Formats: sequence, C-alpha cells, structure tokens
Amino acid sequence: MSTAAKAAVVALFGPPGSGKGTQAERIVEEFGTTHLAPGNMLRDEIKRGTDLGKAAESIMKAGKLVTDDVINPMVTRRIGEELKAGRAVLLDGYPRTIPQLEYMEQYLASIGAQVSVVFRLEIAIEALLSRLLGRLTCPKCGAIYHEKTKPPVKPGVCDACGAGLVKRQDDNEQSVRQRMDAYRQQTQPILDRFEAEGKAVLVEADRDPVTVYADISRRLRQ
Ligand code: ADP
Repeated sequence: MSTAAKAAVVALFGPPGSGKGTQAERIVEEFGTTHLAPGNMLRDEIKRGTDLGKAAESIMKAGKLVTDDVINPMVTRRIGEELKAGRAVLLDGYPRTIPQLEYMEQYLASIGAQVSVVFRLEIAIEALLSRLLGRLTCPKCGAIYHEKTKPPVKPGVCDACGAGLVKRQDDNEQSVRQRMDAYRQQTQPILDRFEAEGKAVLVEADRDPVTVYADISRRLRQ
C-alpha cells in the first residue's frame, strides 16, 4: 500500500451524485482507510433522534449546509482519533467551504499531519440529475442502488443486508440544484487551492464505477 493511502488524509471532491460514496466504499475495502462523511454522520444523528440530528434535519432536507460550529469539531475529532490510532482517513464531503478548509488545516498542522492527495470527480449536470433522482440507499448498511442502472435483486430490498431501501429526503430536484450551486460556489474554491499545491487529481466520473475506481486506486497505490 502506498504512503498516500497508509499514513494520510485523502479527500474526495465532486458535486452531489458524482459517485463519491460508491468510490469511497471501494477505497475503504481495498486500503482499509476510515471513511469520514459528515453527511452520513448527520443522517445517523437524525436516525438516533439526537439534538444535533433534530437541528440538522430541516437544513439538510433543503440542501443547505449545516453550520461550521457543528461540522468542524464533529469531523476533526474523528480525524484526530483515526490518525492517532495509525489509520488513514478518507474524507468525503469535508471540507466543503474555505473556512472549513482553514479550520481543518490548522487542526492537522497542530497534530503534524496534512492532506496528501485529493480526487476531483467531474461530471456533467444532466448526468447528475438522473443519477440522484433515481438513487436508493440502504439506511442500515449504507449500500447505494439506482432504480434504473443498479436495481436491487428484489425491488425495495437491500441485496447486502435485507433492509428496506429508501430515497434520501434531499434527493429531490430542488434540493439537488441547491446542493450543486453550493458545490460550485463554496467547494470549487477549495479545489483551486489544492490544485495550486499540486495535490488535486482530476477523475472523469461520467464512466462506470469500476473504471473510475481503477484510476483512483492506481494513484493511491503509487
Ligand atoms: P451530497 O454530497 O449528495 O449533498 P452529503 O451526504 O455529502 O450529500 O451531504 C448531505 C447534506 O449534509 C448536505 O446537503 C449538508 O446539509 C450536510 N453536510 C454534509 N457535509 C457537510 C459539510 N462539510 N458542511 C456542512 N454541511 C454538510
């Protein structure tokens, strides 16, 4: 395994629906990194009915960003725990704004760590809409399906764990457009910074997931 995958912080960037979650599953499987996705953490808080979950639910449903005072400590605490235990971290959905990037970099510097590589998944908007509006997810194990392109064997039931599949509350057209705008306006500038540091790798995401993953894993093994 490469140093990038072993000792470090790797991040996936891409608009909603670009396949970050699917690629993350594969990276975790091959490299044993810990997948840290604030969207998943927040959905878990909602499921458990915590105060944080209650506060985040309507914001997420509208496709808006949850505030930094909630997100930053929640994610960096987990990054710190994993790195201190010697495990590499795969970030998916964080940092999403320049203030989040700066908070994270300051935190990483304080523990002598840094981001080693970021993957930038690129895909056209029309492809994103059809992907997201047909997406089904398993609330129990996190597996991802699509009504047309990757249906489960038994309709509405997770192949992996047998739980009932659900549509994410925020996979509606209005929320998807809002999330895309947020990505363009707030997340794109983060990529510009990583690009300037020579850490960003462009990945064409409008291909089948196996081919996309081949590009990512080759880079991680380098
Ligand atoms: P997607 O990338 O498809 O929008 P995510 O699961 O990454 O899906 O995020 C879902 C929602 O969770 C976001 O719309 C936002 O409300 C919240 N969220 C996730 N990551 C962050 C973050 N870094 N900062 C603020 N809010 C976040």
